[in-house]
Amino acid sequence: MPVCQNCGTKWTWKQTIRRLFRLNCPYCETKQYESASSRFRNGGLALLPLVLILPINVLFDFSVGTTIIIGIIITLAILGLYPFVLNLSNEEEAFW
Ligand SMILES: [Zn+2]
Repeated sequence: MPVCQNCGTKWTWKQTIRRLFRLNCPYCETKQYESASSRFRNGGLALLPLVLILPINVLFDFSVGTTIIIGIIITLAILGLYPFVLNLSNEEEAFW
């Protein structure tokens, strides 16, 4: 789970999900950023649904509707895993 770099408090899974897009600490209200290494790792995670769904679709010949539902399920599963892999930083870090 992510730890606030300002006050050192560990966020819960629920708190992280509710703050996925703003990332402000629920305890000290400080704006947090995703660290560069975390962003690099999770960028791959975001592409996973696409990478997974193409071969699945080819293999089983699903209809468009089924493919979309599977895509949503995979995306939600990845979103649910996100708090476990998220690392926080006090400043916006560059990749380089
Ligand atoms: Zn904090």
